[in-house]
Amino acid sequence: MPADYHTHTPLCHHAEGEPEAFIDAAMAAGVSEYGISDHAPAKPEPFDDWRMLERELPAYWKWIERAREHAAGRLPIRSGLECDWLPSCEGWINNLGQRYPWDYLIGSVHYLDDWDFDNPKWLGRWAESDIEHVWSHYWQTYSRMAESRLFDILGHPDLVKKFSYRPPGDLARFYEPVIEAIAESGSAIELNTAGWHKPCAEAYPEPRFLELAFAAGIPLVISSDAHAPDEVGREFPRAIELAKAAGYRETLTFEARQASSERL
Ligand code: ZN
Ligand code: FE
Ligand code: FE
Repeated sequence: MPADYHTHTPLCHHAEGEPEAFIDAAMAAGVSEYGISDHAPAKPEPFDDWRMLERELPAYWKWIERAREHAAGRLPIRSGLECDWLPSCEGWINNLGQRYPWDYLIGSVHYLDDWDFDNPKWLGRWAESDIEHVWSHYWQTYSRMAESRLFDILGHPDLVKKFSYRPPGDLARFYEPVIEAIAESGSAIELNTAGWHKPCAEAYPEPRFLELAFAAGIPLVISSDAHAPDEVGREFPRAIELAKAAGYRETLTFEARQASSERL
């Protein structure tokens, strides 16, 4: 199985499990490497209630070291962060990037202005939103994130579909410009299997997006976005099939922010 690089820790307040349990699960799932990428601190603090604080970074690094000790000689452990793409965050992301010898940084769009639109708390806001407008805003934001070139991996590309609010018609009109921006950035995207367990019941991104991404030469990683040990490597066989159907024959691995490829 490919590496699983998008996984969380209890420091974000909505994940649970000891490092040893996550590693045991990764070994049982047979992933080639295990990467930890919890929700990064964001400014000003407290930014929201679903991420670690800046002062918890040392505890986060300790959690990663505990995982490394448990996995020693058995499974490579990689370290990262899932960073939020927010207005004027570039300086902060660069700062975070220098704190520890991360293997990779994931960039994610969970916020449109002040709205963390993937938070089930705000489902009411979705019901009264202009979906076409939200989608345009989301994909424009995602393109800006790609253009920043701050991230090795761009997270769950079409997260905006999480609650199944989609505009009518051919969605390629949203995908084409962003795929061009991603291809130019050199960043990889992830095929995130968590979407299969959300109201949209579809991996992020959908097959059409994945096909366009492959055609544009965008590299891929496969990830579970595990928030508990039993989610590590979840649905990887199904994701491999999807990636292969889109044309992919390899995925990337990262060490010290350098990419290598691994056959699917
Ligand atoms: Zn999370
Ligand atoms: Fe995320
Ligand atoms: Fe995540």
